[in-house]
Amino acid sequence: MKKQLLIIGGGFAGFWSALSAIRQSRELKKEDQIEVTVVNMDEYLTIRPRLYEVSLEGLRVELNKYFKPLGIKFINGKAEIINPDENLVTIATESGSRILSYDYLILSSGSVLKAINIEGIEKTFNVDTFNGAQRLEDHLIKLASKKFDGEGAATFVVAGSGLTGLEVATVIKEKALKIWSRYSQDAIEFKVVLIEKANQVGNYYSPEAQKYVLETLKSKDVTSITNVSLAAVTSNGATLSDGTFIPSQTVISTVGLVASSLCSFFKGEKDKLGRLHVNKYLQLETYKNVIAAGDVANIPVDDEGNSSLMACQFSMFLGKWAGHNAVNALFAQPLKPYNYSDYVTCVDLGQQDGMLTTGWERSLSVSGIEGKNIKMEVTTKLIYPADDVQTALEDSFPEVPNVSQNAV
Ligand SMILES: Cc1cc2nc3c(=O)[nH]c(=O)nc-3n(C[C@H](O)[C@H](O)[C@H](O)COP(=O)(O)OP(=O)(O)OC[C@H]3O[C@@H](n4cnc5c(N)ncnc54)[C@H](O)[C@@H]3O)c2cc1C
Repeated sequence: MKKQLLIIGGGFAGFWSALSAIRQSRELKKEDQIEVTVVNMDEYLTIRPRLYEVSLEGLRVELNKYFKPLGIKFINGKAEIINPDENLVTIATESGSRILSYDYLILSSGSVLKAINIEGIEKTFNVDTFNGAQRLEDHLIKLASKKFDGEGAATFVVAGSGLTGLEVATVIKEKALKIWSRYSQDAIEFKVVLIEKANQVGNYYSPEAQKYVLETLKSKDVTSITNVSLAAVTSNGATLSDGTFIPSQTVISTVGLVASSLCSFFKGEKDKLGRLHVNKYLQLETYKNVIAAGDVANIPVDDEGNSSLMACQFSMFLGKWAGHNAVNALFAQPLKPYNYSDYVTCVDLGQQDGMLTTGWERSLSVSGIEGKNIKMEVTTKLIYPADDVQTALEDSFPEVPNVSQNAV
């Protein structure tokens, strides 16, 4: 009987787990003794970091392009219940409910936009999933077809000024203008309002980097309002926590991510984002035949108290380690400790502007058009798997390049 390696989630972590598992099983000459199965809610690896962009073209990679030739079994379904004491997962598929059993499980079900408990939350838009980004785009097309006419039709409210909030706030006008150009050549004036609960926008950056962000927002005519949060949303506008009403037919929530709710099936303490704590091999302490990788995992990355973040630079590498270690654990081979302490951030700040920061203090390294070019190089090339399946398989070896040196 083949050993069953089950991977839940086909995002960056799950995709690379699957390839790494196949690569390592071949390396150990055990490929005939293992079946690798991936369950994902659709057929794609979605390039989530690009969902805020002007165009949604090319933001999904077909999983089976890689999985089929490599013999990875793919199930289009949703894992609903995990029973880690019995090694069982219940999944819902179009053809009904199924129970899968596993010898080893990799949980890589990612993260979702934090739900905020306010009236009218269903009226907000987001760029968290491909469907969410598509819904926003369809809405903008509808507004354009009505000439952005009516109160608040040309005003975009962005709630939350994390990296995604900054990207949406600085790019949404370009996106709306591109759609508008299909309808008319007339000039149109859009307004963007960025609202932030903290007392400053971008206070997670070093002072120099924050200054660049604030200047860029100003130059792009983005109005920032701090010390406020969303209190209610209707189709016509947003009410803020201080009572201010902003007429807007497009309120976009970018208030941060939380780990997949599947984490709750495992005993043990979670971090404040709901993530599972893992050891240096990515295993859960309570269930040694379970590895968590990507946005569901919290792994210390240095001795200074820093741990992995919900970001591709962690998810992709955690995935490569996860597949490797799961296979080695199944065949009683030594596990490889995760080893990655480098940290950079790249942000797109609209036309001609972007920024690379390095280190945990997020020091400004490159800005302006050069910063934008680095960001685009990373998100349109580096985070995609190689087109050639064999090359992608080789790239799944758990090894981390020095990201900050490569980026600058
Ligand atoms: C708008 C946006 C911008 C971002 N920008 C950046 C950036 O600039 N740089 C950066 O490094 N990171 C960025 N991130 C974060 C980055 O996208 C995530 O860290 C990364 O996608 C996490 O990879 P993952 O594989 O853990 O999870 P995901 O990419 O979320 O993949 C999880 C997969 O699991 C599937 N899944 C979930 N639940 C189930 C279930 N119950 N059953 C079956 N399948 C399930 C999902 O459908 C999905 O395919 C951004 C994220 C967003 C949303």
